[in-house]
Amino acid sequence: MKAARFHGRGDIRIDEVPEPVVRPGTVKVEVEWCGICGTDLHEYLEGPIFAPPADAPHPLTGETVPITLGHEFAGVVAELGEGVTDLRVGDRVVVEPYIVCGRCDACTQGRYNVCQSLGFVGLSGMGGGFSQYVVAERRWIHPLGELGTDVGALVEPLAVAYHAVRLAGTRPDHTAVVFGAGPIGLVTTAALRAVGVEEVIVVEPADVRKEKASVAGAGAVLDPRSTDVTAEIMELTKGRGADVTFECAGVDAVLKTAIQSTRVGGTCVNVAIWGHEASVAMNDLVFREVNVLGSLAYADDHRPVIDLIARGKVDPHQFITGRIGLDDLVVGGFQELIENKESNVKILVQPR
Ligand SMILES: [Zn+2]
Ligand SMILES: [Zn+2]
Repeated sequence: MKAARFHGRGDIRIDEVPEPVVRPGTVKVEVEWCGICGTDLHEYLEGPIFAPPADAPHPLTGETVPITLGHEFAGVVAELGEGVTDLRVGDRVVVEPYIVCGRCDACTQGRYNVCQSLGFVGLSGMGGGFSQYVVAERRWIHPLGELGTDVGALVEPLAVAYHAVRLAGTRPDHTAVVFGAGPIGLVTTAALRAVGVEEVIVVEPADVRKEKASVAGAGAVLDPRSTDVTAEIMELTKGRGADVTFECAGVDAVLKTAIQSTRVGGTCVNVAIWGHEASVAMNDLVFREVNVLGSLAYADDHRPVIDLIARGKVDPHQFITGRIGLDDLVVGGFQELIENKESNVKILVQPR
């Protein structure tokens, strides 16, 4: 089968690789759609970051580059391993793309998303969604029911958002602010609305993204170039500040504004992955007892996200800005996302 593999920085090739073989307790999935993630772009432009280099194999997979990419995928069950009896060939499913140890403190706490040996299918080995077939353990397979597999490919990014929203203890009567309306900020906005939060404010300078934020459900969109964001949020919240804020940019000035616009005793969630050490004025936290917490990926979040989509609480179609074939991955996918960053959210790849 064909697979898009990361060989090194700026080097992704469509290679011919052997089909993965189903084992007891696993499921072979024929991938129908796989989204391109910001993480994939980072890997391509600045990597290897997650992909294990030749001299440092991943501790659980033992694999090194070249690594098949693609971790936001859904497809249909192609074959069932021995002992898997609760699925049928042809079922539409999404794969939670984890590689975890199952033994460390995080794993024993059920917080397997921060496993000390954490790896991702499509970044650390065990194949990836930019190929026709993936084999994964039954525990990582989530049935989509009647939902399409294109929508299924959006479950993973929505699960990232849902996890952050859940971790923050967000309630429907909360006021929430999302900083940044890139792909993660947009799915966070949609996830907040999906769980019933009525007042969602988005902070974003780019015009195209501002419009997308409104579609995703933002009640107000603030432009940090022309607005004193903290003052405006105070105004909109009757002088209190927001109950929950989400930093989806990974920028010092944004983090500062996010903390300062969080209500006394409220929570500022960091969803961004940082390229540098952040500077934080600790007194901004101390004097108003603001909580700051980190949120990474998802754990037990796929099922509730699938249910929210099935119940019509969020429509993932709004995030699909392109569909391409595997052979067009680099030019029509990666290059397109790099050159037209703001007009794109998710480009889906059909890996056949
Ligand atoms: Zn991703
Ligand atoms: Zn672990």
